[in-house]
This record gives sequence, C-alpha cells and structure tokens, in this order.
Amino acid sequence: MALLYAGPVEQIPLWKDALGRNDPNLDLRFWPDYGVPGDIKMLLVARDIPCDLSLFPNLRAIQTLWAGVDKLLMDSRLSATLPLARMTDTSLARGMAEFVLYHSLDYLRDGPSLRQAQAQSKWQVPPLKLAKDVHIGIMGLGEMGRQALDYLRVVGFSLHGWSQSIKEIDQVQCFAGSDELPAFLKECHIVVCLLPLTKKTTGILNEDFFGKMREGAWLIHAGRGGHLVESDLLSALTYHRPARAVLDVFAEEPLPSHHPFWKHPSITISPHCAAVTPPGAGASLIVENYHRVLKNENLKNLVDRTRQY
Ligand code: NAP
Repeated sequence: MALLYAGPVEQIPLWKDALGRNDPNLDLRFWPDYGVPGDIKMLLVARDIPCDLSLFPNLRAIQTLWAGVDKLLMDSRLSATLPLARMTDTSLARGMAEFVLYHSLDYLRDGPSLRQAQAQSKWQVPPLKLAKDVHIGIMGLGEMGRQALDYLRVVGFSLHGWSQSIKEIDQVQCFAGSDELPAFLKECHIVVCLLPLTKKTTGILNEDFFGKMREGAWLIHAGRGGHLVESDLLSALTYHRPARAVLDVFAEEPLPSHHPFWKHPSITISPHCAAVTPPGAGASLIVENYHRVLKNENLKNLVDRTRQY
C-alpha cells in the first residue's frame, strides 16, 4: 500500500521531509518510479494527473496540492466515481487574505494616483477616505473568502458577501444566488472574486456584470482565468465600471508578453501568486486523508462532483 506523489519535481525533497515527519512509516513513491502499480492507493497531484489512471488497479482516491480543482475536473481520464479531495491550508487562506487586504488598502489610500503624481513630481493630496466608508464585497464565502473577510473586518471596512447558499457572517451583509448579484454589486466599491471555476461561474465577470458595478469601483480577481471575459473587461474599463482591475489569474498563464493587459494603465497584474501552499504545509491533511483511504473512511475536503467544488 503506497502513496504516489506526482506533483512538481522540484518540491520532492520538501514533501518527502514533511510527509515523512507526519508518518515515518509511510510508503511514499514518486512519479514515474511507482513500483508495483497495484500498490498505489492514493495519488497526490497539483493541477494534472500524470497518466491514464487505469494503470493503478487499486487506486482509491486523489488528493490535490492546489485549492482549485477546475483543471482536473475537465480531464476525461478522471472517473466521476473516484473520490477527489482538495488542499486547504491556513497559510493558503492567510496569503489570499493578505493579497486582498493589500489591494483594498491601495484603493483606500488612492495608491495609483499617488504613484502617478510622484512620477510627475506633483504635490497632489488625494481626497481622504476612511475604511468604514469603503464597501467591499467578496464573491465566494469559502476558505479564501472568509479569511479575507476576517482581515478586512479588523481594519473596519464595510463588508458584503455573495455565495451560492445564503450565509450568516458577523458584520457582513450576505447575498446569495444570481438573483441577488445585482443588489450585491450595487453596494461595492471593491468587488473581490474568490469563486471556484465551475460551469455556473465560467465567464461570470462579463459585460452584464460590469454594467451592474458602481462607477469607479475596483475589481480584484484572484479566482481563475476562466471567470473573466477579457475583451469585456477592456471595454468596461473605458466606462470606469470597473475603474481598475487587479488581476492575478488569466485565461492563458503565463500571460503572453504581447497581451494588452500588461501595459493597460488601469490594470494591475500579478503572476498567479495571490496565495500558494508552501511545499509541505498541507502534509498533515494529506497523511490524514491517506489513512482515511486505508480505513475506508470518507475523505476530508472531498470535492462535490455535482457542484464542481
Ligand atoms: P471553497 O471553500 O470551495 O468556497 C467556494 C465558495 O464559492 C463557496 O462560498 C460557494 O458558495 C461559492 N460559490 C461556488 N459556486 C458559486 C456560484 N455559482 N454562485 C455563488 N457562489 C458560488 O473554495 P476556496 O478554498 O475559498 O477557493 C476558492 C477559489 O479560489 C479556488 O477554487 C481557486 O479558484 C481560487 N484560488 C486562487 C488562488 C490564487 O493564488 N489566485 C489560490 C487559492 C485559491 P456556498 O458556500 O454556498 O457553497
């Protein structure tokens, strides 16, 4: 009985150490040196599976090293009945919350205008705002969204949240479902997309969506590239709905060097680094799920294949 790692090759030493510390008796193997195929009970992957999974006749589950599972779910080699568990980790959610807080403070203190004024040696005082007067809306109230709300609440921003099913969260005005999306967007000076990519959410950041945003609002997008209709964003920016887009994820990654986003004055780009699980950080979850597989128990963080997250 063995756990097969098929994640990034350069991270092998770190994962070997972290997983071994959680279970010194673990039979851990590394793709492509899987040994006897029948030994493999669980496969550990980042975004892709390495081969046709019929190679492993006793495979009982897949555990990811990434929070998003959209690319895996599109892979026809992954049977719909094979349990799939996704990574969640406190450092991942905290990293995302820091990313959202950093750009929210940039909005609050008018960072782009200050930087532009300095580049022109201009002494230009921006109108001062207080956090309580800035309304931030988080789309997706899961692991990432809730941690972001916790950080933003401490600073005193006015908070709103949007999810599939309605939530009750301290000091957050909650909305749910597509019917309530316009009312949610009407409130927000900053809209943050932290949704998973599913059939329902693909292309959600489109012309219609931007038309419902407040004029001058910002979009912070750290979900997945497939949420955004890129051409719609370029025209929406000319109407200041949104006035600025902070983008961490793209349809094509790395973003091609000729892409118009790079040089757009109202777009801030980061290379899909809003939040990462430091190699080894989710080792206890992986080892726990592996033992659950061996005991025929349900996995933690099991992906609901119908909802796609
Ligand atoms: P999660 O815990 O599964 O939470 C997903 C949230 O989205 C839930 O609140 C869910 O609503 C909501 N949702 C799903 N479909 C919806 C729909 N059609 N309409 C409205 N709300 C919907 O996910 P997570 O761990 O927070 O991660 C979210 C995403 O962040 C990941 O899938 C990934 O794409 C992205 N991510 C990006 C980075 C990066 O570096 N850029 C890093 C990590 C993760 P319910 O609560 O009602 O189910």
